[in-house]
Amino acid sequence: MANVFAFVESRGGDVRKAGLEAVSAARQIADQTGGGEVHALLAGAPGIAAQASRLAEVGADVVYVVEHAGLAQYDAESLAATAAERIRAGGYRAAVFSATAQGKDLSPRVAAKLRAPLAPDATAIAVEGDAIVVRHPMYTGKVIGALAITASPALLSVRLGAVPAQPNAKAGRVETIQPAADPGASKVRVVELREGNKGKIDLGEAAVIVAGGRGLKAPENFKLVEELADSFGNAAVGATRAVTDEGWRPHSDQIGQTGRVVSPELYVAVGISGAIQHLAGMRTSKTIVAINKDKEAPIFKVADYGIVGDVFEIVPALTQAVRAAKA
Ligand code: FAD
Repeated sequence: MANVFAFVESRGGDVRKAGLEAVSAARQIADQTGGGEVHALLAGAPGIAAQASRLAEVGADVVYVVEHAGLAQYDAESLAATAAERIRAGGYRAAVFSATAQGKDLSPRVAAKLRAPLAPDATAIAVEGDAIVVRHPMYTGKVIGALAITASPALLSVRLGAVPAQPNAKAGRVETIQPAADPGASKVRVVELREGNKGKIDLGEAAVIVAGGRGLKAPENFKLVEELADSFGNAAVGATRAVTDEGWRPHSDQIGQTGRVVSPELYVAVGISGAIQHLAGMRTSKTIVAINKDKEAPIFKVADYGIVGDVFEIVPALTQAVRAAKA
């Protein structure tokens, strides 16, 4: 029976969806390796401890809390030192991070400190015999690679949406610990965080994404995409690079190889051809719906549901149908 560690991301005093999913992924590994405990590490400014109960709800047996004014913002050096020290002390079978921008920065630092193997960007995790098998997209998503890690601790980062957070209430005993390195002493400091998408649902956190491509013809036609997103109530708007290059949408909306990588429950592709670089950012979405007037468009190869038709007819009809279904 082995215990599993999870690093929990937070921002502005709130646990992020990615943090809850990391705990759920750790819970899954612990349950499949004999029912060990899940130990979560939650770090932030004073007050962050109040979030510990949310981690217990999704399967954390123990929550190690680090509170420090210098951790109000992400501090790579201090957090990497603290996570590495905790993982070393805990003798864990595995350590789970999030495959977010922050997690992709943090997890290799921790792996290097521990000289431990790291399987990045997991879209599926399984325990097979002695190995933790991590599946992840490679070569811009053309193939799915499987990495079998027998060594302990096995570090892995999990793509957003790959392991949805599940209710699985545990005790969530809280233990306060000190940072292993003083946050104020790091060589790199985050001096300011500018929120590009103020008030908008973050692409990484959204359960539903409606993304638009060049098939929309002009920036003002993105209102069709926004209205469809609105009709779902909790959807974010994304775009292809063709669209962001044209300046129709901000770069922060771009999904793909050189944009955001997302795995929502539902991805609606509107007037998007399905270039390999776009697919690299969205093909692991749970359900993909594509609307395109060209029935040969490559997007239909990855779509679960395809609608061959004109976006200017289909999208308003779909918006009405979703609104009617929700009414
Ligand atoms: P198009 O390929 O022009 O497709 C438009 C689609 O709309 C067509 O399939 C057409 O049939 C359909 N259409 C047109 N009119 C209508 C209508 N009225 N009704 C219904 N359908 C209609 N792209 C990304 O998206 N993200 C990335 O991160 C990214 N990174 C890249 C990195 C590199 C190094 C390179 C070389 C390229 C990258 N690209 C990326 C660009 C990518 O190759 C494609 O050019 C881009 O994804 C195409 O965007 P699109 O589907 O909007 O446009």
